[in-house]
Amino acid sequence: MPVKGTDIVKKLPEAGKKNCKECGFPTCFAFAMKLASGGATLDKCPHLAPEVKAELEDALSPAIRLVTIGAGDKVVTIGNEEVVYRHEKTFVHSPGVALLVTDKEPNPEDKMKKIDELQFERVGVLLKADLVALQFASGDKSKYLALVKKAYDNTDLPLVLICEDVDVLFEARDICADRKPLLYPITKANLEKAIPKIKERPTPIGVQATSIEELIPLTTKLKEEKLDEVVLDPGSRSLMDAIKDQTLIRRAAIKQNFRPLGYPTIAFPCFMSEDRLEEMLIASAFVAKYAAIIVLSDFDKSSLFPLLNQRLNIYTDPRMPLSVEEKFYEIGETTEDSPVLITSNWALTYFIVSSEIEGSKVPVFLCVKDAEGLGVLTGWAAGKFTGDAIGPFIKKCGIEQKAKTRTLVIPGKVARIKGELEEALPDWKIVVGPREASEIPGFLPNFAGSLKK
Ligand code: SF4
Repeated sequence: MPVKGTDIVKKLPEAGKKNCKECGFPTCFAFAMKLASGGATLDKCPHLAPEVKAELEDALSPAIRLVTIGAGDKVVTIGNEEVVYRHEKTFVHSPGVALLVTDKEPNPEDKMKKIDELQFERVGVLLKADLVALQFASGDKSKYLALVKKAYDNTDLPLVLICEDVDVLFEARDICADRKPLLYPITKANLEKAIPKIKERPTPIGVQATSIEELIPLTTKLKEEKLDEVVLDPGSRSLMDAIKDQTLIRRAAIKQNFRPLGYPTIAFPCFMSEDRLEEMLIASAFVAKYAAIIVLSDFDKSSLFPLLNQRLNIYTDPRMPLSVEEKFYEIGETTEDSPVLITSNWALTYFIVSSEIEGSKVPVFLCVKDAEGLGVLTGWAAGKFTGDAIGPFIKKCGIEQKAKTRTLVIPGKVARIKGELEEALPDWKIVVGPREASEIPGFLPNFAGSLKK
């Protein structure tokens, strides 16, 4: 639960009555309200006692700590979630999907390559797995360290090091410390030994326990040691227990603002089933509830794509439709005789229409009108995809310099805008095109031929 401005003001100098204005706000109360909404930072008030500042910093930090694994361009950022249910606002950082590679595998490089080979584009977004999880399974330290070195040299993806032997874990960390790997597992048994090692070269850590209750003293101790780039594993390995634990952790962090559980979580479908299909179904449950890292034993095209697609759906902000830029797009090798079509800028509409045009093999200018991310019909109903709105766009988007046909094809679903568009664009002929995108390949070849006559 976010801290309230009315609670913050009580902690400000003279219980919020100093009102010296040095923070740039007219009163302490105004400053407190801005702090609570994230519109100001504590350093603007020079009169805060250090202990009050620390207390407020803690109160104002996100309910779930932001954790970054990796370095450079290839980082996975998790945490900072603000809600239990997506419809309350949005989920923020989609879970990182990790591929497990053990030091017993005959061809670890080939397996790692899968991550870059299996990439999918959907509504303009690139979908792929995100991390490599390297597991010490052979019992042979030299094999594991060789695997970590191989991964360090051959991939720039963020790494998760999974190793029960804490000495080997930190030797492996030293190979790739500059890449900020996630170290797992830090447990009740190895915590004291691990703390000084973590402090040597700070990097995120995965804390494993046998229950949620056991996690609490571990994260409390780590926080005291100022180590809080933490990812939680409550240890549950059956689906029902794991979802129950994930839900309890999320609710405790968000609803009760319970700091010892205010961290993102890691889940291991790879250790929960030997059946690949079942493993993927478990993974899909974790996408919805609420794992921040999901480790898979393996995947192929047919199992990974549905999971990533589900992730995309759940982590797309429901308040903001996916949209594409307003402009005209050239599909294929257009000439000045190519047909000119128009549609709205909802990403799904754009990608369906553009893929049908590509399928028709007819080069086309596709004008995309900003309808605030709405589809054609809802855009029209909302007044965003009308003749009066499209006319000025066609005039200013530059299509008149590219195409000479002066014939604009509108979607059949909004045939009713033909009249007002003819008024708005007197130099253009307006043609009502297909109602459904799937009819475009049947429509375009003849239509394009008619323009050349
Ligand atoms: Fe209050 Fe501090 Fe702002 Fe002064 S600088 S008005 S004491 S919050």
